[in-house]
Amino acid sequence: AMPVVALVGRPNVGKSTLFNRIANERISIVEDTPGVTRDRIYTHAEWLGKQFSMIDTGGITMESQQLNQEIKNQAEIAIEEADVVIMVVDARVGVVDDDETVARILYQSQKPVILAVNKADNLEQRQDIYDFYTLGLGDPLPVSGVHGTGVGDLLDEVVKNF
Ligand code: GDP
Ligand code: MG
Repeated sequence: AMPVVALVGRPNVGKSTLFNRIANERISIVEDTPGVTRDRIYTHAEWLGKQFSMIDTGGITMESQQLNQEIKNQAEIAIEEADVVIMVVDARVGVVDDDETVARILYQSQKPVILAVNKADNLEQRQDIYDFYTLGLGDPLPVSGVHGTGVGDLLDEVVKNF
């Protein structure tokens, strides 16, 4: 079967933006309201001739659940379904509690995790990513879903795991 890559992270970090960028299509709805998504959550993608499926776990919503519980469940779904997990964080906000919660779940899973520091739109933001080492998930990779910068390097790391 095709390898599965899952995007995880708290709302509004840019998972759907990256999903669309990697899919090369605008299929996941990007919302300005944190936590609000009505997305298509699966797609096919390809990098360096390697095909994979991709899940935007932020589009999996569980009604009547607290946001914090929902974020945990999304991380667990990602671990269960994915061969490689991309954890997305926000360069402009820095590390917050919900990031630490997700990171802890992923860390314990022992799945390959790639840490994408999104919204690193300029040089200064791309260089200011050292705080994210505290998540314990290895080297943070600066990306910009909006501009596309860093996404190729991110995908290079992803497909190394197939
Ligand atoms: P999700 O909730 O994690 O799926 O986040 P979305 O993809 O819906 O994006 C949330 C907000 O962040 C939207 O307003 C996006 O336009 C914005 N956003 C996403 N990626 C970037 C980026 O690389 N740079 C900047 N400046 N904004 C971004
Ligand atoms: Mg989304």
